[in-house]
Amino acid sequence: MGTEQLSALAAVPAGLIGLVAGSFAGVVVDRVPAGGSVIRPPSHCDACGTPLRASDNIPVVSYLALRGRCHHCRARIPLRVLMTELVTAGVFVLLAFRLPTLWALPAYCVLAAGLVALSAIDLDVRRLPTPVVYWTGAIGAAGLVLASAGSGRWTALASAAIGGAACFAVFFAIFFAVPKGMGFGDVRLATLCGVFLGWLGLRLVPLGILLGFVVAGLPAIALVVLGRATRKSQLPFGPFLAAGTLVGVCFGPAILHALPLF
Ligand SMILES: [Zn+2]
Repeated sequence: MGTEQLSALAAVPAGLIGLVAGSFAGVVVDRVPAGGSVIRPPSHCDACGTPLRASDNIPVVSYLALRGRCHHCRARIPLRVLMTELVTAGVFVLLAFRLPTLWALPAYCVLAAGLVALSAIDLDVRRLPTPVVYWTGAIGAAGLVLASAGSGRWTALASAAIGGAACFAVFFAIFFAVPKGMGFGDVRLATLCGVFLGWLGLRLVPLGILLGFVVAGLPAIALVVLGRATRKSQLPFGPFLAAGTLVGVCFGPAILHALPLF
């Protein structure tokens, strides 16, 4: 079987697991900023507290079947719940097609689910909760070791460490020089992104981070031009760093092939 067919075969379970992972990411988004447990209590309606039936807890399907409302009190289920599931599943499928080896798929799916949750939390409450960064990093790093063992790419672990260290150094310097520019959460997140970009190749590290700044710069400039923000307004940087990293992971080699920046 060729690489293409193998990727297509992996994309189906990756998408289905992505729906479940996205559903879990939604629970993380709902509960972690308020200090709640992600395991207990079981899922319930935020409005009336009624526990969800098993049939209410199927990603995407339940949302559509219930037309976005609680079966008990008919309160609206936030659209964010559906979006988190769809975006996570979409990124998992993309990763199945774009990663150089399927051995790396579990690690990058963990990264993607973590980045989706962190981005949604950052947009919501302007924070990047440390436990989410650490759990994503710990489980994802185990995945990278598995990826190296399976594919024989042991040197990739060294570039992952270098990528993480380089991003930590650069972002810590920015944090130190312009403390109001970003929070320490951004330094932790950039380190995480550097590790996963680095595993795929050191050239992807500056590219992924640069893409984050470019993606962040466009809406920031637009808001300033439209008079909706001043240059001193703060935009959450996490979602842009996450987006830049995922674009770098999926399309970095193609971008560098067309535009040899690094
Ligand atoms: Zn309800």
